[in-house]
Amino acid sequence: MTAFYIKSFLFILGSCLGSFCNVLIHRSTSENPKDQSILGRSRCPHCGYFINPKDLIPLISFLILRGRCRSCGHTLTGRYWIVELILGLVSMQLYPLVLFGDAIGFVLWMTLSMGLVTLFFTDYEKGLLPDMIQIPLFLFFWIGTAWIDPYPFSRMSTGLISAVLGWCLIWFLSRLYFIFRHQEGFGGGDGKMLAWIGVFYEWRSMLGIFFLATILGTLWGILLKIQRKGPWNMELPFGSLLAVSAAIMALWGDRLGRFYLESVIS
Ligand SMILES: [Zn+2]
Repeated sequence: MTAFYIKSFLFILGSCLGSFCNVLIHRSTSENPKDQSILGRSRCPHCGYFINPKDLIPLISFLILRGRCRSCGHTLTGRYWIVELILGLVSMQLYPLVLFGDAIGFVLWMTLSMGLVTLFFTDYEKGLLPDMIQIPLFLFFWIGTAWIDPYPFSRMSTGLISAVLGWCLIWFLSRLYFIFRHQEGFGGGDGKMLAWIGVFYEWRSMLGIFFLATILGTLWGILLKIQRKGPWNMELPFGSLLAVSAAIMALWGDRLGRFYLESVIS
């Protein structure tokens, strides 16, 4: 029974953090200066109406209002609800960490999930991977992962080496693409994102995440081409692909690694 209460609490906590991610997604990509402060009160993105605290309950308010603004009736994107649900479920999945009293582990994994979900949507919706989200993630993971490591200084140096490797990989491919195609293959945010992913996952898994993202991107491009929705060289949000790949690596990384070793190398 206690497990049920803890899991319910974790779900509510996660959905509240999801609500915060929605604020980050909107404000870090907004062109309206009034919306750019993280601490300001929540407003309807359409009419600017200050949202009542009673309409800010994660998941529930959206359903009660049927996804509309109480003031102007403008339909809000279903993303608000999806982000709150995903982070609620992720938080519940981290129950074993709570059970074993690993508070720092919980905070690290939850922050990773929030970062991935937030950047998935900022890149997917606006083509942006804002520094105001990525730089704090980099610093937080650099210190946090070393904090729980038995060899903190060695972990800090491998984290930094992985970050530099990730950033250089994107920079190098971007230059190469420019030489051959005379256009930018990656945005500046992609390199920073792979850098902090490198800090969290270390370089081997980071390279796995990068290759998985390119495979997913190729499949997505082929799918769009079949549906005749764009030219071959159309831009795909690589940050969103990195976010999905990093989530796959966190969930099934061990199995993917074994599959790779068994089928490709041997
Ligand atoms: Zn409104």
